[in-house]
Amino acid sequence: MANKGQIGVTTENIFPVIKQFLYSDHEIFLRELVANAVDATEKLKALAASGDCKEELGDLKVHIELDTKENTLKIIDNGIGMTEEEVDKYINQIAFSSAGEFLEKYKDQIGNIIGHFGLGFYSAFMVSKKVTIETLSWKEGSKAVKWTCDGSPEYTMEPCEKAERGTVITLYLDDDSKEYAEKSRIEGLLQKYCKFMPVPIVFGKEQEWKDGKYVDTDKDKVINSVEPLWTKAPSELKDEDYKEFYRTLFPMNEEPLFWIHLNVDYPFNLTGILYFPKLKDRVAVERNKIFLYCNQMFVTDHVDNIVPDFMTLLHGVIDSPDIPLNVSRSYLQSDAAVKKISTYITKKVADRLESIFKEERTQLEEKWDNLKLFIEYGMLSDEKFCERALKFALLKDVDGKYYSFDEYKEAVSSVQTDKDKKLVYLYATKPEDQYSFIQAAKDKGYNVLLMDCELDAHYVNLLEQKLTDTRFARVDSDAIENLIPKEDKVKLEMKEDERYDLENMFKAVLPEGKDYFVQGDNLGADAAPVLITQNEFMRRYREMSALGGGMNFYGSMPESYNITVNMENPLVARIWASKLSDVKPQAELPAEAPSDASEEEKTKAREAREAVRRAHRADVEAFASDNQLLHQIVDLALLGNGMLKGKSLSDFIARSYSLIK
Ligand code: ADP
Repeated sequence: MANKGQIGVTTENIFPVIKQFLYSDHEIFLRELVANAVDATEKLKALAASGDCKEELGDLKVHIELDTKENTLKIIDNGIGMTEEEVDKYINQIAFSSAGEFLEKYKDQIGNIIGHFGLGFYSAFMVSKKVTIETLSWKEGSKAVKWTCDGSPEYTMEPCEKAERGTVITLYLDDDSKEYAEKSRIEGLLQKYCKFMPVPIVFGKEQEWKDGKYVDTDKDKVINSVEPLWTKAPSELKDEDYKEFYRTLFPMNEEPLFWIHLNVDYPFNLTGILYFPKLKDRVAVERNKIFLYCNQMFVTDHVDNIVPDFMTLLHGVIDSPDIPLNVSRSYLQSDAAVKKISTYITKKVADRLESIFKEERTQLEEKWDNLKLFIEYGMLSDEKFCERALKFALLKDVDGKYYSFDEYKEAVSSVQTDKDKKLVYLYATKPEDQYSFIQAAKDKGYNVLLMDCELDAHYVNLLEQKLTDTRFARVDSDAIENLIPKEDKVKLEMKEDERYDLENMFKAVLPEGKDYFVQGDNLGADAAPVLITQNEFMRRYREMSALGGGMNFYGSMPESYNITVNMENPLVARIWASKLSDVKPQAELPAEAPSDASEEEKTKAREAREAVRRAHRADVEAFASDNQLLHQIVDLALLGNGMLKGKSLSDFIARSYSLIK
């Protein structure tokens, strides 16, 4: 006789609630049911191991069977099964009431929790109009029982015919869940959620190519690998095993650079393998490539609340039963266990990198260019990681030589210390474009670092805070003599009106639309006549604002350049001499109005002085625009900086031809 009853639940309409709230994540039902089947199998193994269960276990597998005509899906195990009392206790009472409580408690934020919390067995009702359980317990003398429920809080329980120990769950798929009656959909879900579950999961048969098409063989197709690599002891594994596993996880990716095998059982339980992938630039960065598992059951690929942000650049697997899954994401971050796990992982990653630095230096150098984005991002975003990384991060110079921070300091401090005892690290961002500046620095015996990574604008700032008495200067941000100023430099003496003339002369021939700050300097007879540079700090602010550093004010300023005129250069000397002889000195300025003069008189006197200055300035500008040599040296400097374009460039070419004619 069938036994009728009411499921022990408070809310009458729990099914619509389940369907509605979990709408977006219906697919997890399969994970939940397979996980139960796997649990039941593992429990049986444990009973056998302890000697409690003495019967023959047979071939322990979980079978998934799809009937596309009937729209049914079966999950079959030969695990411990349930007695009638157990079905009543676990299915009718506990399971459902806890689901009810849960929904009640988290009603408002349930959208956030989806995917982290399975409703267990009852998630079957997200996709089914009817569910049956047929089960036979392992316990001696048990009778098979069938439980049926059509989605209302009413169920029936009746005896049934079932010879084999274990449980068969049958889902009669809902009309609006027909997608789960497709083989490819189920295959996809099993791949996603069950690929590494610890009991073989069978779905269909292996196929073979016969008479021009694929046909089923009689061999079961097992979709999972029951002992994934992270569950094995690192000492048993070879490099090739790790690479192979990476390929199974990410078949489309290039080979990883390094990896780290995590394995801890106290104070929490965590295993996993994290890979350092090749990272070229931020655009190509793939996040969400760390898969979180709980006892080999896939939970999520969003681990952003579990590991520090920069770690999400890594790829791989973390498996921990100690990460609470039934809480909201925002809660995760403040959870003490999760914090410990996060700190542990960060520390392990730093340990691994440090040991690579110490023991595999050549490898580290070879792979550095693909690794540094990760390390720089980590240093910028995580204080603790930064402290550690200063010991193993590398600097690379423009000639491709690598140094640790300590080594670099050692290498350059004797020559690159300025008169104020500050160490100056020179760097280039585009060695091709900055070639002449790099050369000038090398001629002085200086070393130039390569900082061509996207994050380097921020990174350089960070390093200035971390390295004591050290300043970074881009090699083209000033004349090399000024980048690392030394005591012995003879300062140029120029009178106020001379400086003014020099400035007007050069501004008259420089392209319009930009700000120039013109300055005379003594850079030696052999150095170039004109240097065009950009102030280090202005440029950095602009770059950081472009990267989204929140400094839009600097980003919106016009570009400004420093024009350094080398007064010791013979060409400049020639121009300056002809200016002195060709341009008549400024006429004497009319006297200023006495302080008690009327406003009108004051304005008049001011305008008279202004007129004299203006006239002189016009003379200087006329001289400048007629002076071919001046045009030529300015254009050559612009050309050297890649700034000579359009009409200015074609004028320059025409002038050059006429000069060599
Ligand atoms: P949970 O698995 O989180 O305990 P479920 O609602 O999924 O919650 O299942 C409730 C209980 O029902 C399980 O703890 C287990 O005792 C029992 N159960 C579910 N599925 C099976 C199965 N396939 N074989 C044996 N027992 C099962």
